[in-house]
Amino acid sequence: MTEPLDRRAFLAATGAAAAALATTAGAPAQSDAGAVFLSTWDFGAEANRRAAEVFAAGGSLLDAIEKGVNVVEDDPNVTSVGYGGLPNSEGEVELDAGIMDGTSHRAGSICNLHKIKNPISVARLLMEKTLHTTMAGDGALRFAIEMGFTPQQLLTPKSLTEWLKWKNTPNHSTFWIDREHHDTIGMLGADGKGKVAAGCSTSGLAWKLPGRVADSPLVGCGYYADDAAGAASATGNGDVMANYCTSFFIVNRMAGGAHPQEACNDLMRFMARTAPQLHEDMYCVIAIAANGEIGAASMNSKQPLQYALWKNGSGSIHTAPPFLG
Ligand code: ASP
Repeated sequence: MTEPLDRRAFLAATGAAAAALATTAGAPAQSDAGAVFLSTWDFGAEANRRAAEVFAAGGSLLDAIEKGVNVVEDDPNVTSVGYGGLPNSEGEVELDAGIMDGTSHRAGSICNLHKIKNPISVARLLMEKTLHTTMAGDGALRFAIEMGFTPQQLLTPKSLTEWLKWKNTPNHSTFWIDREHHDTIGMLGADGKGKVAAGCSTSGLAWKLPGRVADSPLVGCGYYADDAAGAASATGNGDVMANYCTSFFIVNRMAGGAHPQEACNDLMRFMARTAPQLHEDMYCVIAIAANGEIGAASMNSKQPLQYALWKNGSGSIHTAPPFLG
């Protein structure tokens, strides 16, 4: 029997409306049971929880990574990422971030971004809306504004006080000779169905020289993802770690069949051949295989790496084994 035209029109209209709802309001909820999220440091626990929530609500792996990292970027109490991150030597907060999709092999990275608290979101837009991969400084800021971000003061009373204290200390340390506080949120995700993604975000080293770029926003250094093998991220002395293409090194080892933990240890071994200050400085990595198995390592026990894991629907915090004693 032929349906009356008005009923067919109604079904078509409601079908289209339902489809539009599914795409605008997010895809239908999916189970996060198979998804694994792995992040650096204890602040990664909240990022993982948010990522799992976004993923369970139907978001993509990239949505989960971006929104998870946003939690740490927005937190004024984290003084090494986003809003409240400690500034450069001139008192300006300068942010770096990157994100990579292991399926399309596309990445977006933002360096030396001022006045915008969520550089990972800017990096994702760069990846998805343009043909570029990396943008820095004033151009990155102008791109962010064009994408709808609102510039704001990123110094908090706490970070301003810290900077003034450093500035007013006679003979304070500088990056001509010495280094100060730092950390990065590195976040990796595996969806349990063969896809991986990676992201990271940082304000870099406190009191760094303006314009300094280290490992975090660089593809293959601060982060890397490839569905065929897995994903990795790094935190620590990025001036040194960038010289070892740490994340690419690890994923490449996994592509050759290494377990993520073995791949992290291999990287430490590789660095140990030539890296200076191995026992003093911080060099840490995390890795995830497409099947959700993980690895994490820090170079030495003086600078242990805490990492946060979300697996089987719940979160936990662990300390990575140091490679050297
Ligand atoms: N790797 C970051 C940088 O050097 C800092 C960190 O992760 O601790 O900017």
